[in-house]
Amino acid sequence: MARVQAVLRQYWGYDTLRPLQAEAIACAMAGRDALTVLPTGGGKSLCYQIPPMLDGKLDIVVSPLIALMKDQVDGLREAGYPAAALHSGMDAAERRAVHTALRAGQVHLLFVSPERLVMDDFLAMLKGLAVRRFAIDEAHCISQWGHDFRPEYRQLAILRQHVPHASLHAYTATATPRVREDILQQLRLKDAAVLVGRFDRANLIYRVLPKTDVRDQTAAAIARHAGEAVIVYCLSRKDTESLAAWLKSRGVRAAHYHAGMGNEERHRTQEAFADESLDVVVATVAFGMGIDRSNVRCVVHTSLPKSIEHYQQETGRAGRDGLEAECVLFYSGGDIMRWKAILEKRQAAEAGEEGDNAADGAQTAAAEAARRVQLELLRGMQRFCTSAHCRHHALSAYFGQTYERPNCGACDVCLDEVEEVSDGTVLAQKVLSCVVRVEQRFGIGHVVDVLVGAETEAMRRSGHTELSTYGIVKDLSAPALTAVVYQLVDQGLLVRTEGERPVLQLSETSRAVLHGQQTVRLLKPRERLRKHTVRGEKSLEGVDSGLFEALRRWRQEEAQRRHVPAYVIFHDTTLTELARLRPRDVGGLAGVTGMGEKKLAQWGEAVCAVIAEHVGRA
Ligand code: ADP
Ligand code: ZN
Repeated sequence: MARVQAVLRQYWGYDTLRPLQAEAIACAMAGRDALTVLPTGGGKSLCYQIPPMLDGKLDIVVSPLIALMKDQVDGLREAGYPAAALHSGMDAAERRAVHTALRAGQVHLLFVSPERLVMDDFLAMLKGLAVRRFAIDEAHCISQWGHDFRPEYRQLAILRQHVPHASLHAYTATATPRVREDILQQLRLKDAAVLVGRFDRANLIYRVLPKTDVRDQTAAAIARHAGEAVIVYCLSRKDTESLAAWLKSRGVRAAHYHAGMGNEERHRTQEAFADESLDVVVATVAFGMGIDRSNVRCVVHTSLPKSIEHYQQETGRAGRDGLEAECVLFYSGGDIMRWKAILEKRQAAEAGEEGDNAADGAQTAAAEAARRVQLELLRGMQRFCTSAHCRHHALSAYFGQTYERPNCGACDVCLDEVEEVSDGTVLAQKVLSCVVRVEQRFGIGHVVDVLVGAETEAMRRSGHTELSTYGIVKDLSAPALTAVVYQLVDQGLLVRTEGERPVLQLSETSRAVLHGQQTVRLLKPRERLRKHTVRGEKSLEGVDSGLFEALRRWRQEEAQRRHVPAYVIFHDTTLTELARLRPRDVGGLAGVTGMGEKKLAQWGEAVCAVIAEHVGRA
């Protein structure tokens, strides 16, 4: 293990291993198959990067995306680590160079795509290379129960026959038992060690706030992280475009991202985000696996993810460097309705596709079963949002783990950030009586317009300007009142009918509220939310923030000059430590986290110059 320490310091500039890294590395060294499940940011890559540097062998990493491979190889090379990749994005000359280096024993870690790995000529080449181990990254792609099923992963099972002496090491962040079981079986792992880490991400602050005016709420979240990296997730492509445009008009360095854009434009956006010339990406969930910016400080969900697994995956992109980060989700019961409508439409479309092929009842039954699973997952997400329990606790419990602390100090519930509307019962009564006045025949939009006294053609035509409830809610905007109505639906105090034109109707319990026999609690977010938790503030103690910014600017220039992501040069953790210690000469840099040997030699002088200039000026 002393060798591990030396290698860890030499290439990465780290001093201690994270939980389960030692165990995963021990399996690799002993040639024992293993499945390692660690949350995003848990440090899976190090588990397969260290072993070949200990025994000088060649290992192969299977990785699902070219962008992901490229970034990892760039990062490793910057640290002086002998890694290479083979993928379809390279030309013949580049590929030849890698083959030559491989034969000369100059590569210890080779990244390949699953498609390439199972090609005949690649398998033939493997025979001559004495591969010791295979690491299967993002191994959940092999499972249909996972969220990014990739059929090519299924073929990896043939590795067992072709390279019988190598051990297999699967890595994933997907924790459900079903996916785990699938990986073990599909890859035919033998007597595998199963290492499952803790899923709680202690450095994330979770917030689930009632959605009132989502634009303003998003802008406020971004303002808490001005100049830092933020990902904003939206449900539709159109939403990403309009929200990004609006943010840009307010001076935020933002861009949109979705699968409908051209390759080149998508690539440009990803690159700008990586080299830090772009702060905010407003995206659909298509913005995912390829992003490897470790200093994302905030992930915003403007609408509900369709399962807790998706939520965990998407929020997992925040704070991968271990520093504090915020995850905020704006919840509205309306989003549940939207998802249900989408699921139903999808099923109808699938049934239509099968057309008159009535013999295929089995397929219809399978589609129906899949829809039921999705609805169940959606309900799990809804319960998470509407419950008033600690978010860290709830997420741990969902993944089958216990959470010990009674107050996490890092979620909206424990931080007591949701405020009760002072006259909730009266407000509820106003809404309910308006539903009665319009004879339970109108939808949410119309009822809200009546209550706020909207001056529209539809109002005049319906004659509802004459109702006693017209304009009786004066102090709330239409979006804020809409959020209130959805809370009433969530609490079962109002019914929203299903179908094409849903309308609001009274429920069994509405009358008790109208007659003053039942009180109603309605929630709204507090005006000002903290940027850091108490713990996070401690970790920033003594950090010279001006110097941190100066170092970031320097890093961004270098990243753009060299066409690499900024984190490939240094992570924020390193810059934070530099901005705390303010070392004046290269000798003082040696013990800093993230300052490996090659980086010290390459950047030491430049870093000291930035520090000296800043300190001199201050
Ligand atoms: P994962 O693949 O599990 O999502 P990564 O392997 O990308 O996570 O690691 C996340 C971050 O943590 C990276 O910036 C990595 O350099 C850092 N890291 C990993 N292991 C350690 C360690 N033992 N000490 C300090 N930092 C680490
Ligand atoms: Zn909590």
